Amino acid sequence: MNQPAIADLLHPITWPEGFKAAASFTFDVDAESCTIAHDPTSTRRMSLMTHQSYGPKVAVPRLLKILERQDIRATFFIPGFTAESYPDIVRQIVDGGHEVGHHGYLHEPMQGIDAATEASYMDRGLEALAKVAGVRPVGYRAPWWELNWHSPGLLADRGFLYDSSLLDGDAPYRFAVAADDPRDIVEIPVDWTLDDWEQYAFYPGVTGSGVIESPAKVLEMWTLEAEAHHSQGSCFVLTNHPFISGRPSKAVALEQLIERVKGMDGMWVTTMEEIARHTKATVTEIHTHARIDVPVFPGAGAAFTPAAVREGALK
Ligand SMILES: [Zn+2]
Repeated sequence: MNQPAIADLLHPITWPEGFKAAASFTFDVDAESCTIAHDPTSTRRMSLMTHQSYGPKVAVPRLLKILERQDIRATFFIPGFTAESYPDIVRQIVDGGHEVGHHGYLHEPMQGIDAATEASYMDRGLEALAKVAGVRPVGYRAPWWELNWHSPGLLADRGFLYDSSLLDGDAPYRFAVAADDPRDIVEIPVDWTLDDWEQYAFYPGVTGSGVIESPAKVLEMWTLEAEAHHSQGSCFVLTNHPFISGRPSKAVALEQLIERVKGMDGMWVTTMEEIARHTKATVTEIHTHARIDVPVFPGAGAAFTPAAVREGALK
């Protein structure tokens, strides 16, 4: 039954004996952290805070029951601040046999920050998970899936096995943390198609498209994705947020999706850690991500920027 991926020729992988594709259900337990990081004054908004706390308070216990009923293990990426705010919930997740991954401390915006600052977020997140639940995560998912070029090296410094924040594959792969640093970590790529944020997230003045999709439509879309990954031998990774997908009709649809994915012949439904360990053990090729340099046009005397174009510098 083993067969290399045919969909992602850049990242071929052979799955464990008996499996021909993989699937992992992941939950980012952002709770209040993502709104506070975006706007510290959001803590003054009682209703908004309850919209976020619904995740750990109501949704996670519901989701844990679903996972137990379906007899699958999932991966929960938990910001340190969430862990400190809801220690019992983190312990319930661990007691349920699920994996806990790192997801920043306060779901900090990562775009453009320096390595030292990002390292301090990582370390504070690690301290929180260790203190609350005695967990040392092997997996990292950057807040908003926003890695910087220096991030992989910081992860390797801290012994992380894998990251799940990049978007350039359908299957897991290994990559060098920098062009001049051969240490490697595993990447398990993600896709906005498989994120509940785009389907359901809406809060006035905070986020969302203004459309809260029908779970029936989302179930159909995600089933199509799972079927495609299954037929192509690649890796289906669903990213859900408990405060979004743990609400009643969405949780029902999620359980239906889990049943469908489990029912796909030869689909390995497991944690991200298991997928990463298999990748590390069996894949030998190490990829390198090439940084893009902004093109400079000869004679123009300026880098290619929209302003330069507007000003006629580039002709
Ligand atoms: Zn998040």
